[in-house]
Amino acid sequence: MSSRIEGGVAGPDRLSAAVRRIRPSAVNMASQRARELKAQGRNIVDLTTGEPDFATPAHVCEAAIAAMRAGQTRYTTVGGTLELRQAIARKFMRDNSLDYSPAEIFVGAGAKQALFNALVATVESGDEVIVLAPCWVAYPEMVLFAGGKPIMVAQGTGGFGGLLARVEKEITPRTKWLMINSPTNPSGAFLNREELRALADLLLVHPHVWAMVDDIYEQILFDGRKFVTLAEIEPRLKERTLTINGVSKTYSMTGWRIGYAGGSQALIRAMAKIQSQSTSAPCSVSQAAALAALDGPQDIVRERSAVFQRRRDLLLKEFASIRGMRPNAPQGAFYLFLDCSELIGRTTPPGETIASDEQLATDFLMRAGVALLHGTPFGAPGYLRLSFAASEENLLEACRRLRAACEEIQ
Ligand code: PLP
Repeated sequence: MSSRIEGGVAGPDRLSAAVRRIRPSAVNMASQRARELKAQGRNIVDLTTGEPDFATPAHVCEAAIAAMRAGQTRYTTVGGTLELRQAIARKFMRDNSLDYSPAEIFVGAGAKQALFNALVATVESGDEVIVLAPCWVAYPEMVLFAGGKPIMVAQGTGGFGGLLARVEKEITPRTKWLMINSPTNPSGAFLNREELRALADLLLVHPHVWAMVDDIYEQILFDGRKFVTLAEIEPRLKERTLTINGVSKTYSMTGWRIGYAGGSQALIRAMAKIQSQSTSAPCSVSQAAALAALDGPQDIVRERSAVFQRRRDLLLKEFASIRGMRPNAPQGAFYLFLDCSELIGRTTPPGETIASDEQLATDFLMRAGVALLHGTPFGAPGYLRLSFAASEENLLEACRRLRAACEEIQ
């Protein structure tokens, strides 16, 4: 019998253009490296990961156990069970005054899958997607995978007015989406009502541009800020806005892999169609757990957000006296984005010149045993990202080590 599969081992030439266009996740790679060093017995304070260090609430775990006992262990409806989509509809109404019917809601394996399916469902080769930088590392890679062109618009100088003007300048007939994430990973920047209003006005005059709004850090906001989302501010944009959220960050459920999106029925159907031919459905047990999280008591969410704020305040105090690492003051999420550009070009104690933020992160990892992420994959060279989803004890220890390491840089 003849076989058309020749050549045996899959070399790079056998891989698709789509997969060759993207890079592996810089976050996963750095976390992996920290874990490997730990496994070798090194004492590493790992501040790379973007997941709350709290446990999933007990009532959520109980709901999952009850679901398993009740036999909810089979495939579910492709885009999520009706019960969960109804709970998500209640959440959208309760927190965002948004009226999505269950048919306008998609559930997938994390907000990441909602973003991915939406881009793959809509982006044609050469389409442009505007991304505000610095941004989460996955956005430009997903756009590239879908065949599109990420158009990075830097926050830069000139405040929000400057950013708005730069976004407008980048809108072309090929612009498909504007991606918005507030509060944002990695800088914790938050778009307030007036800023979102201005973005909404811009979108209203460009009806071919849709908005992909990632609200995953909605509940982690500091100093009494009140969250708002685009479709809530401008109902005329609701049909062309995809409002994405999930249980990962809000309820410390990163491993359960449940995210969701509300949007136009046609887009939601297309996202589910992709799911039907790939993962079939999100995990049944996780869906039951997510339902319990969304419908259950919400005080824990506020309590945990207050803990993140205390840690942020502690870090801002510490970094005020660490030479060469200037922190932003995040308004939400759980990351400190540190401007380390002063340290680039300087010399480490072994006599090496620090050529890049990546090399600086490696230096801190090897010399101080502190794992941070470098800014370049987030679109911000010269920066490092520190996740404060870690205990105060670990954060203080990291500051002590970084202070000492910075003192030694010439
Ligand atoms: N969106 C942003 C901005 C994130 O930072 C992350 C995770 O780090 C996600 C989405 C992914 O969330 P999920 O765990 O729901 O896939």
